[in-house]
Amino acid sequence: MPNAVDRLFAVQSAIRKAESEAKRPDGSVSLVAVSKTFEADDIRPVIEAGQRVFGENRVQEAQLKWTYLRSDFPDIELHLIGPLQSNKTQEAVALFDVIESIDREKIAAAVSLEMKKQNRFPRLYVQVNTGSEPQKAGIEPKDAVAFVTRCRDVHGLMIEGLMCIPPADENPGPHFALLEKIAREAQIEKLSMGMSGDYEIAIGFGATSVRVGSAIFGSR
Ligand SMILES: *Cc1c(COP(=O)(O)O)cnc(C)c1O
Repeated sequence: MPNAVDRLFAVQSAIRKAESEAKRPDGSVSLVAVSKTFEADDIRPVIEAGQRVFGENRVQEAQLKWTYLRSDFPDIELHLIGPLQSNKTQEAVALFDVIESIDREKIAAAVSLEMKKQNRFPRLYVQVNTGSEPQKAGIEPKDAVAFVTRCRDVHGLMIEGLMCIPPADENPGPHFALLEKIAREAQIEKLSMGMSGDYEIAIGFGATSVRVGSAIFGSR
């Protein structure tokens, strides 16, 4: 039976293949290995196999696992890919290298304040709710460009990328295309899109990073 490391290598080679099919440079897509719900003991072999970028969706869970793992592997890059509550911004700014889920004014203000307080500056992405799903986090597509501008002009936040999670039951292509279009309008270069089921498609639409969990760690 393949283990997580075998599956990591399979995902890495599928990414290289999708890059080449999309006529994009080798290595232009980075892999965020999504380790949510998995224990430090499941994650360690994947780190030892060379993976350094990981995604978690809960601040507290990530704190518990990664404070300890990071003491052994100080060059880990940790991404917050889940919704951020304003009462968790202090912990999030202290722990994460990239926060991918900036999606409203209140969070932008809170993150900005914390970054100044801690003198620690994680890279930031705005999450866009491309399917306008009421239960899902993310700014509405029609408000996204203006929000990115306000993050910069009002809150002093440089937004490096956009992130989306297409509706589970829809063809993801149009959602990836929409995110790419918004990024172009907002003059943003990084696109975090594509998960286990659709990362190869996302690469065809210009993803610069893909967030892959179950295809590496197994089902949750
Ligand atoms: C869980 C999660 C992923 C990974 O999903 P898989 O289908 O397991 O690859 C990616 N992005 C976000 C925001 C997630 O919460």
